[in-house]
Parts: sequence; C-alpha cells; structure tokens
Amino acid sequence: MNQIRLLPEEVVRKIAAGEVIERPANVLKELLENSLDAGAARITVKITGAGRQLIQVSDDGSGMSAEELRLAIQPHATSKLVQLADLQSLKTLGFRGEALPSIGAVSRMTITTRRASTSEGVTLTVTGGSAGTISPCGAPPGTTVTVNDLFFNTPARAKFLKAEATERSHIMRILEELALAFPQIGFELWLERAAPWHLPVAKDPADRIIALFGTSLQEQLLPIEAETSALQIQGFIGTPAAHQPHRRFQLFFVNRRPVSHRTLTHAFYEGYRGALPVDRHPAAFLWFTVDPAVVDVNVHPTKREVRFSQDRMVHDFLSRTIAKTLETHRLIPAIPLPTNAEGGTSGAPAGATLSRDRSMVGGSGDVASFATLLSPLPPLPDSSQLPALIPLAQLSQLYILAQAGQDLVIIDQHAAGERVLYERFWRQATEGPIPSQPLLVPEVWELSGSAMKLVEERLPAFEASGF
Ligand code: ADP
Ligand code: MG
Repeated sequence: MNQIRLLPEEVVRKIAAGEVIERPANVLKELLENSLDAGAARITVKITGAGRQLIQVSDDGSGMSAEELRLAIQPHATSKLVQLADLQSLKTLGFRGEALPSIGAVSRMTITTRRASTSEGVTLTVTGGSAGTISPCGAPPGTTVTVNDLFFNTPARAKFLKAEATERSHIMRILEELALAFPQIGFELWLERAAPWHLPVAKDPADRIIALFGTSLQEQLLPIEAETSALQIQGFIGTPAAHQPHRRFQLFFVNRRPVSHRTLTHAFYEGYRGALPVDRHPAAFLWFTVDPAVVDVNVHPTKREVRFSQDRMVHDFLSRTIAKTLETHRLIPAIPLPTNAEGGTSGAPAGATLSRDRSMVGGSGDVASFATLLSPLPPLPDSSQLPALIPLAQLSQLYILAQAGQDLVIIDQHAAGERVLYERFWRQATEGPIPSQPLLVPEVWELSGSAMKLVEERLPAFEASGF
C-alpha cells in the first residue's frame, strides 16, 4: 500500500471542481448567478463550441476592486456569507465561494472587472488553477468572465461530455431557468454563429414566459396564487387538457432559485390526480417564497436541491392549492353519467381529437413528439390481433368506453387520435416519399430557443418528413 500523504493543492482544486463543474452548462449557471448576485440589469452571454471553446458572461453589475478580484478566485472566498448563521437569511444565489476557483482549475479563465466608482478596470487570467498577475486595463463598469478551453487539463471529464447538441440544450435550459427566475433582467445570447437572441426586460413573469415559450403556451396557463404564514406560492399552471409528453415546461423556483424537488413535484401531480392521462405532464411555472430560515439550500454543491424543514406542510399546501385552482376553473372533470351510446360516441371523438391534435402540433413547440418522430420507427402492431370493439359511451369528452367480448375497454381518445395519425404517417413513410403541400396561409409555429436550435439542426429530417 502507498504511503498516506496530503494531495497537492492543485489536485484538490481539480477534484473539488468536479463536484460543481460537470459540463459547460454548470459554468454558465455559476457565472450567471454571480452576475445576478452582483445586481446586474443586463447580462450578455456568448457561447462557442457548445461551451467547450468559449463561455463568456458580461454584466453591468457591481464589479470588483483589484483586492476583491484577488480574493474572488481563492477557494471558499465569498462576499455573501460571513458566518454559518447567515445561511438562514441568505438572499443571494451563491454562498459557497467555490465557483470561480473551480472554473479556473479546469479552464483558461479571464476576469475583467471595474467598479463604477473607479475610472480603470483590472484583469486577471487563471490557467488550469494557476493565477497570473492582476493588471489594470480599460473596461466598462461591471464584470466580464471569459472561460476558454474548458476541461483542457481534465481529459477524463472532457470524455464524458455528450454531443454538442446535448450540451447546448443543457446550456439553453440554464438560461431559460434563470431568465424565468429574474424576468426584470435583460438577457442576450450569442450562441455559436447564430444571430443574437434577445430577452428584453419583462414587466412580469407572464411576459417572460411568452418571450421564452410563445403565446400559445401562455394562453393555456391558469394563474395561481396562495399564501400561508410560512409559504407563498405564485405562478401559472397548465390546464389538464393542455398536457405535454415531456416536463420541459415544468419549472419550480424557491426564493428565485431554480430547483428540482421531489416533494414539490409529487404534490404538483397530486393536485392533478384523476385529471391527466398516464405519462402526460401539465405545465408549471411556480415561484415559492419562504422564509430563508425554513429552507436549507446547502444540500448539494450545484445548489439544485433544497430541503424544507416542514416538508409535509409544503406538500399538502401545494397539492391543495393546485386542486383548488383547477376546481375554480372547473377543470377537474366531474364524472357525468354516461350519455346514451349513440350520441356519446358517434362523431364527437374524431372532432375532439382533431382539434386537440392541432393544438398539439401547432401549439407550444412540442419538441419531444417531433424528436420521436425522427428516430427510427418501431414496427406497427398487427391490428387484426385486436378484439372487435363495441362503443358504449363517451366519458367527460376524454375517454371512450367500449366492450370487447366480456371486457370493458377504456380508450384515451386523445392518445388514440395521436396513434391513428402516427400510424398513417408511419405507413406513408415506409411506402415512399411523404407527400407534402405548401400551405396557402403559413402556419406560424412558436418555439422556445432550445426547440429552435433542435429544429435547425434537424431541418433535413423535417424536410424528409414532409414539412
Ligand atoms: P460565491 O458566488 O459563492 O460567493 P464565487 O466563486 O462564485 O462564490 O464568487 C466569489 C466572489 O467573487 C463572490 O462572492 C463575489 O464577491 C465575487 N464575484 C464573482 N462574480 C462576480 C461578478 N460578476 N460581479 C461582481 N462580483 C463577483
Ligand atoms: Mg457564485
């Protein structure tokens, strides 16, 4: 066995960096959080090589003096926390004092910064953990952090990165999350060689949702608001009918921090109980405001997880609030007695399916269903194996009840409608080129930034599919 010894500081830093900086999107998250904590009003982001080549974040925030800059790149150096008790009243996104040293350990990082009260800025470069000297330079007030050649000295980490498109979609997600957490801040994104993407200052969260995901999604949202002594909930939830095949439009914020939280997710679905088909997901943009003393944000190095001291109370309050909101909008289907067999089933399902599918495809940038459309097509089941169905009734405009021999079959008509269209498409795709026809009036399809990138990347596949 080898002798026990203390690791050199450089190795310690690289190991620590591994916890915070797993991929380019983590760098972006930390830099954006710092800019937001510094009180920036406008933030500009530049990305090339899916973040491997360059991640640059410029802000017009407080800036740093030369002395502050020297400290900022030291491990456990933070201006946001003095003693442990301060965690109880934390108002900033950062507090661990780890980000800048961690990023500096695994890249070539240059920080240029100027306090508004001084006429000259300062700049400093850290290369693979070793800091150069601080020198004066001309700079606008605020801070620009430039991260080049991420993971150049940690080839093992570099190997774990996914395809550029995947890394870019993680990057877009971080931007979406923080842009929603801070609607009053203007963002600008220069992604690769594409034209810049502007997110102007939004007057309220709804405006930011529209800017990010389009009006058609926003129109399907219900406002939600509730308060107890310990907790305030604000935001928007999707109507059950506007469910999606993915959770992309579910974002939870606790004191403005984007979080993933099992209790919150569970309570959210609990509120929709009985109103959703299986494997479908309503939208949620929920902002929780709690006393910092009752939430622990120091659970995980990436600060994505939080813990509530009164988990149960939060859970019950959220699920009740959701259920009540749906109820007041009369969106939980009251189960009516089956209508008579003929009136219930003839015609109605087809019509309902059509209009719903229109809203699905033309609606809110439903990327996942297109993505599956582009992957290799699974074979169709042999429909002659299915038993003959005798339709009985339609329930809540959602389900068709039918008899198959001795069995009662319940068909989710929305899913069945999708299946019919899917099979029709599948047949066409296997039989030759898909016929397509230009529309007289173009259909406008609003997309989120990340969905837009996906579509651009896969344009040939869309064209081959008849679009
Ligand atoms: P933390 O955010 O947890 O304090 P960081 O390593 O991210 O740790 O940053 C260290 C310190 O550097 C911050 O506490 C802050 O004082 C300073 N700093 C970092 N980025 C900026 C910025 N964009 N503008 C002003 N100060 C910054
Ligand atoms: Mg930070």
